[in-house]
Amino acid sequence: MPSLSLRVAGAVALAIALPFAATACGGGGDENSIVIGTKFDQPGLGLKNPDGTMSGFDVDVAKYVANELGYGEDQIEWKESPSGQRETLIQNDQVKFIAATYSITDSRKEKVSFAGPYLVTGQSLLVRADNTDITGADSLQNNKKLCSVSGSTPAQRIKDQYPGVQLQQYDTYSACVEALKNGAIDAVTTDEVILAGYAAQSPGAFKIVGEPFSEERYGIGLKKDDTELCNQISDAIKKMEDEGAWKAAWDKNLGPAGVEAPAPPALDPC
Ligand code: GLU
Repeated sequence: MPSLSLRVAGAVALAIALPFAATACGGGGDENSIVIGTKFDQPGLGLKNPDGTMSGFDVDVAKYVANELGYGEDQIEWKESPSGQRETLIQNDQVKFIAATYSITDSRKEKVSFAGPYLVTGQSLLVRADNTDITGADSLQNNKKLCSVSGSTPAQRIKDQYPGVQLQQYDTYSACVEALKNGAIDAVTTDEVILAGYAAQSPGAFKIVGEPFSEERYGIGLKKDDTELCNQISDAIKKMEDEGAWKAAWDKNLGPAGVEAPAPPALDPC
């Protein structure tokens, strides 16, 4: 058994080492890098390209914010953040913040904080271009197979408001779109901007039907109650909007999908 002094020394060493360990790998990066969460499979919003580069509106907003926080593009490490894992990634300090078509909701606010909104859209439906009998959420009750993603607000809304619909929950929307293409499911539901990105990626294959039936306000998710970081991110979004970089990013990323840039939404206080 080690002497008391050795054990005390060991405990002291551990107590000193732990906070450093927490800084080095916690909080999503260190002073030389920042870990940012986004989607990797949503064209126009968050997409990892075959050459490894990242593109999309969320990616451009995240890059702008990172730059305002003092991190250049080459200091960003991107972390894929599927819908069902976002709160956990933030709570476990695996990312500094998440920009990933992430709706601000009261239940999520119990676990994380949000800066924003920086984009407002609404839930809609994507079907194959030749479909004629799906015209809106109500027509899905007619034995249709609908795909959405676990942990997303659109999946939850279908479960709450359209319990008669056969909902299949996948991990990603790209998997839903694949299943729509090959006929395994009849429709995909999520936010209209996301669906527009997939429709633009495969011209002639799909169409969006019906009117949006929710309001989804995208925020940047961050550690709960980190008001300082929330204010920094909020200021960065405001600056991006005022400088015209927000509209430029919209036109570049969502313009090709046929979505006109609206006026940027007013930001909530942190
Ligand atoms: N905006 C919705 C959400 O945060 C749907 C999009 C997504 O799953 O990323 O759940």
